[in-house]
Amino acid sequence: MRKAQPVSEQPQHSNDRVRRSNLVAVLRALHLDGAQSRAQLTRRTGLYRSTIAALVAELIERDLVAESLPETRVGVGRPSPIVTINPRVVAISVYPDVDALIGGVVGLGGTIHRRWRKPLTAKPTPEDAVELIAEAVSQVESELGRDHRIIGLGVALPALVDTDAGSVTLAPNLDWHGVPFAQMLRDRLGISAMIANDAQLGATAEREFGSASGVGNMIYLNGSGGGIGGGAFVDGREMRGFRGYGAEFGHIVIDHGGEACFCGQHGCFERCVRRDALVAALGVDSIDDEELGELLAGSDDPLVLGEVARQVDRLAAGISMLISVFAPERVVLGGFLASLYAARREELVRLVAERSFTLLADRVEIVSGGLGSREVLLGAAERVFEGLFADPARFRSARADSE
Ligand SMILES: [Zn+2]
Repeated sequence: MRKAQPVSEQPQHSNDRVRRSNLVAVLRALHLDGAQSRAQLTRRTGLYRSTIAALVAELIERDLVAESLPETRVGVGRPSPIVTINPRVVAISVYPDVDALIGGVVGLGGTIHRRWRKPLTAKPTPEDAVELIAEAVSQVESELGRDHRIIGLGVALPALVDTDAGSVTLAPNLDWHGVPFAQMLRDRLGISAMIANDAQLGATAEREFGSASGVGNMIYLNGSGGGIGGGAFVDGREMRGFRGYGAEFGHIVIDHGGEACFCGQHGCFERCVRRDALVAALGVDSIDDEELGELLAGSDDPLVLGEVARQVDRLAAGISMLISVFAPERVVLGGFLASLYAARREELVRLVAERSFTLLADRVEIVSGGLGSREVLLGAAERVFEGLFADPARFRSARADSE
């Protein structure tokens, strides 16, 4: 379980600031780790029992949490009430990809209320995407009960995203260049909208709710048909880099003088470790990542074995470099990289160990992502909830107020 980090009750802090920080600590603890009794929250935060009671009362008043008595009594005396986050405070997450608009409604606590995938016949222009998202949001608004509150829209994009400006600098597969997408969405929809790189959001989701839950130092690598993306947490904080451009791990150069990449270099990681080459070696049409893993593991075709061996070797080279830079405790692999890992786990672990600074590599666990396609939905919602966690005291009940 993660340790909540309340601000100590010292006189130099203004009361208001301390109260707000503690409100966030309690809310985040309930969001990430589920329902807890007031007694557990007291132990976890190290705050006074009366302080926790007052903070919970404020969160109840804002309709962010609810309280109930436990069903079974433990020991003597008054049972400690159970505090639960309100999953009907929701974010709408969407992911415009080349062939579909994927979306979902995600509540506080990581509850996915609904998901959809609308196939597209052509890759969407930014204007198309705005209209498709507007349709989806309007449908969600009409379907959700009045007790749900939508606090914003989070959009994951297969793109280099300038998170400071809320604009898409380059989405090679969608063919978008310099698009002020967050502003376009706000203008059209009138609600708060956040945009970010899909793999960075995947890293956030795995770190909050998945295979690297609560791990302070982790790197995440996601492979899709479009390439390799990544994310990293360093000392418990997400590494976003200048304007949010960080963790473009797909473009570290693994093979000098290798195949040309759209980014202007040759031999990028994502040109060496490729989903399409694996699928071609298998001689199959379109398959999902799970099937891909099974076929790779089961094949004895020399062509497949050769391609898998080459890619596992290159994947190990990339991971080893990242281990030297980040000293992660855990490396999480998603998308088809998880399929490759599932098919050749021992070999990958051995190669990474051989090529890394031993003392660093000895401590690293390599795992596959636990959230699958839920990753981007949860990650995009987290960016929306960040606004709420920045200052829950500003949160009011009306929908548009949260902007
Ligand atoms: Zn590149």
